[in-house]
Amino acid sequence: MRLLEYESKRLLRAFAVPVPTEVLVLREESKEKPSAFPVVVKSQVPAGGRGKAGGIKIVHDSNEYQAAREAIFAQEIKGYKPNTILVEEAVDVVNELYLSFIINREVAAIELIAHQEGGVEVESHDSAEFRKYTIKNGGIDDAAIDELADVFNIPEKAFLLGDIIQQLYETFVKSDATLLEINPLFLTHDGQFIAGDCKIVLDDAALFRHPDWSFEDKPHDANFILLNEFGSVATIANGAGLAMATVDAVVAAGLTPSNFLDIGGSATTEQIVESFKKILKFKNVDTIIINIFGGIVQCDTVAKAIIDSQKQFSSLPRLLIRLSGNRSEEAAKLLSQSQLHLYQSLNECLKELAP
Ligand code: GDP
Ligand code: MN
Repeated sequence: MRLLEYESKRLLRAFAVPVPTEVLVLREESKEKPSAFPVVVKSQVPAGGRGKAGGIKIVHDSNEYQAAREAIFAQEIKGYKPNTILVEEAVDVVNELYLSFIINREVAAIELIAHQEGGVEVESHDSAEFRKYTIKNGGIDDAAIDELADVFNIPEKAFLLGDIIQQLYETFVKSDATLLEINPLFLTHDGQFIAGDCKIVLDDAALFRHPDWSFEDKPHDANFILLNEFGSVATIANGAGLAMATVDAVVAAGLTPSNFLDIGGSATTEQIVESFKKILKFKNVDTIIINIFGGIVQCDTVAKAIIDSQKQFSSLPRLLIRLSGNRSEEAAKLLSQSQLHLYQSLNECLKELAP
């Protein structure tokens, strides 16, 4: 589940990471106004690039504030209109840096990624320019912090930098995050670090140990786990074991799975339709693998459900369907009547995906 900026920053504040002072969190019907200026008025959409799109405005008086507020509520950014606007005290900035934490699954460790030029142009940097540090034994080592302080051209701030990195790391681990990005990390005139913007993605699968989680984006049910919002291959399977094996096979084929989804012991039209709806939120998905083993459930029933579900969408990503077991020959016939192929194994599906 992806948090909005104000939600991410409240989480950071709880872990003692310095963030700008929150002045207001506005809904469209809210009447409050800031009592002091300048403030920054920020569209709370779950997308980056708000600055460039006009969704972030620094305002100096209440007229500018009213205009900014109206413009931002009216403006759609990357397909999202904000329900919420964050108003913060403006920060006096000397420098904008970039820090993020991700899970590097190849080395099974959390990785810190940094760049000396943060801010709205960060995507224009070549990926080789980013510094990467694998975090081992519960913290980042001092040598890495010293090196990073040099890269940032603030060797005298190594100690303070080490502190904020440790606090961010703790936020990441204790919140069961899969991504935490600070862009920009402000360096202020009086030599402080402040998280200017923050994106956090939490692991839906960890919901059971965070009864306090309450965010605008609702966590999915336990059977659906977001793996990568930019993944290209969505997966649907029955049974947790088969669902995990499907995700693993996609990774092994060198592709990025968007999700884990276990639709359980039966596969009805309603379930398949719901699954497609969830998957269609991920804009990069170009293929859906449906991997069902017909034990109690009959493959031709599943095939019918897939065919019926497909009719409810004007366009779907490519479907790679593997049904095996009970009544799979009947399923193959039904699917072929709808121009769909039935694959005998997951490997056959993956061959179609060879990058
Ligand atoms: P994004 O474009 O969606 O990533 O939104 P950000 O929250 O990162 O804001 C974009 C840019 O606005 C930042 O890189 C800063 O340059 C600028 N900005 C945001 N808040 C402040 C602030 O309090 N003070 C100053 N000086 N600039 C700010
Ligand atoms: Mn940003």
